[in-house]
Amino acid sequence: MNLTEIRKAMQDSLPDNEKIEYFIESVYVDGRRATVAITEKHMLIRFRGFLKRKYTFYPMHDFRDISFEESFLFSTVNFVMSNGKILRIEKLGKSESRIISGFIRQIIAKAEAKTMIMGKTCKYCSENVKVTAVVCPHCHRDI
Ligand SMILES: [Zn+2]
Repeated sequence: MNLTEIRKAMQDSLPDNEKIEYFIESVYVDGRRATVAITEKHMLIRFRGFLKRKYTFYPMHDFRDISFEESFLFSTVNFVMSNGKILRIEKLGKSESRIISGFIRQIIAKAEAKTMIMGKTCKYCSENVKVTAVVCPHCHRDI
């Protein structure tokens, strides 16, 4: 597969034909070589030589924060997810990393603003609860 084909395949696998905003050809994600596509709603990762499951989807609302590490030539962007896991995208060009993290920061801020107004969804029973709730008033589980 050449790059155009990979991009097309990634585009096709997105729900409702979400538009790819950024496409990064060759980076390291958690130490593995990967191709990354970023949309308003998802980060889609295709690990090289990882045939069984071709794409890994990360919904944007799963990202809570972003931090940078800069070296002489490259940047690393750390994406902190809601479960506390950190997704590291390494070997990004410096300007590329700034553009991408700016874009994702905007999305995180939008999602946070929306959550403050709308409340959050309980992951167990899918009911809407207040953003500050630590126990779901519907199913009584810790959230
Ligand atoms: Zn619940």
